[in-house]
Amino acid sequence: MINILEICKGAKKIGITGHIRPDGDCVGSVMAMWQFLTKALPGADVEAVLQKPSPVFECIKGVTKILEDVSMEQGEAAMPQRNYDVLIICDSIAERTGMGAHYAKTAGRIVNIDHHISNTGSGEYTYIVPEASSASELVYHVIHEADPEGDYMDAELAKTIYMGIVHDTGVFQYSNTSPQTLCLAAKLVEYGFDFSKLIDETFYEKTYVQNQILGRALLESIRFMDGKCIVSGIDRQTMAFYGATSRDFEGIVNQLRITKGVEVAIFMYETDTLQYKVSLRSKGGVDVSKVAVFFGGGGHVRAAGCNMTGTFHDVVNNLSEQIGLQL
Ligand code: 5GP
Ligand code: MN
Repeated sequence: MINILEICKGAKKIGITGHIRPDGDCVGSVMAMWQFLTKALPGADVEAVLQKPSPVFECIKGVTKILEDVSMEQGEAAMPQRNYDVLIICDSIAERTGMGAHYAKTAGRIVNIDHHISNTGSGEYTYIVPEASSASELVYHVIHEADPEGDYMDAELAKTIYMGIVHDTGVFQYSNTSPQTLCLAAKLVEYGFDFSKLIDETFYEKTYVQNQILGRALLESIRFMDGKCIVSGIDRQTMAFYGATSRDFEGIVNQLRITKGVEVAIFMYETDTLQYKVSLRSKGGVDVSKVAVFFGGGGHVRAAGCNMTGTFHDVVNNLSEQIGLQL
């Protein structure tokens, strides 16, 4: 276990980052660490650096103060130099953080807190626990180690960690939900925040357009391998028609996964000509992390992702070959 306050001793500039296209756990873990360090180290300049998260996360304290990652659009030359004394990477490896990877080159110390089984660790201070439900759960333990009396714990911080756990466990449903996860959730709820509203507004609520795209993706889904696999995709033309961005696809692959008889669900959307961002979900029989790693991505046994090149059918063929090795 690492002691984050020991690592940050004497640091003037601290950066906290997570993976590109930040999801609930990424936002939860990064913002929880940001809230804690902002309170615990008032003399330090603490910054959260992330790609702009979905507006649903604006209910989390500090989200509106995030330094938005511009790296995806403008390239490394356009990135400001920040020279962090400490850079904390949550829910990701350095390579998947966009601008964070650039900052990692000049950071004094690098801390990596993650639960991805595919993560081999970035930097000298790592806390990587693949069995953990979420990076947010791990951030709680890191905070608790540094602040065992809970002097800096408050309802906002509890809500932020709880939100991250909720998202990565599918509201305490997925198999990564352990007895410890539930005990922690109970402890967090005691701080008093409206968890029902939080879950509705950040997890379940969909915009009209999101629901339309979900409907379309389900309608156009195709089963293969005797119904053990299901796939659906959205091309750029369709995205443009709905004015949709990657944030609007959250939840589609999970809906595909719960189809009866399905072992592996695939959802992909076109990011560029013949480029797809692929999301994989499994019911447990197939380790989709292995499949994703094969194609240069990563993730967990039951949820993983990667970027792939080719037509929709090329991508499906290449994926099914790898999935077939396990089925
Ligand atoms: P999603 O399908 O929701 O984007 O991602 C599922 C899981 O796989 C998440 O834990 C996510 O962090 C991870 N993941 C998705 N895409 C990639 C990728 O390209 N590389 C790595 N290393 N992990 C990914
Ligand atoms: Mn996560």
